[in-house]
Amino acid sequence: MRPFLLLDFDGPLNPHQADGIPPGYRQHEITEGKKTWRVLLNPHHGAELNNLASTFDLVWATSWEHGANRLLAPLLGLPELPTITWPDRRPVRRGSWKTQYIAEWTGDRPFVWVDDEAKETEFTGEHQLVYPVDARIGLTATDFAAIRFWAAGKSFADKAFPTHP
Ligand SMILES: [Mg+2]
Repeated sequence: MRPFLLLDFDGPLNPHQADGIPPGYRQHEITEGKKTWRVLLNPHHGAELNNLASTFDLVWATSWEHGANRLLAPLLGLPELPTITWPDRRPVRRGSWKTQYIAEWTGDRPFVWVDDEAKETEFTGEHQLVYPVDARIGLTATDFAAIRFWAAGKSFADKAFPTHP
C-alpha cells in the first residue's frame, strides 16, 4: 500500500514567517475575485514533490482546500491532487485541528504529514510520521532527503499493511 504525503501549504511550501524573501524563493501575488494573497514559492519544491510522487500519493492537507489545486499547484508545477477538506471545523482542546480529519481520511494507510503547526505526537503509529517544518524556513533539501529516507526504510508490501475486510 503506497503511503500518502500530506502537504500543508502555508509554512512548508510558503514560509510565510520568513524575514523577507529567503534564498531560492520568489514572491507571487495570487488574485481570485476580490482577494489577493502574497506567497513565497520555491521552484525546486515542485520538482522535489513530483519526484516523491513515485513513492507517495501526494495529497493537499491545507486550509486552502481546493484552492490549492486551483491557485497554487500550477505555480509549483504540480498536477491536481486529492484534497482533504475540513467541514464543520471545530476547535480542539489540544493538538492540531487537522488531526481528526487526517485520521479519518488516511484510515490504515501509511503517511508522512508535513505541517508547520503539527507536532510529532499527533500520530505515533509505526507507519505514521508527522514532520514539522519551520514556517520561517519552509521545506529544505534536507527535509526532502529525510522523507525519502523514511520511505526507503519502510516496506510497503500489502502484507505489511493488511486492508480491513
Ligand atoms: Mg501551515
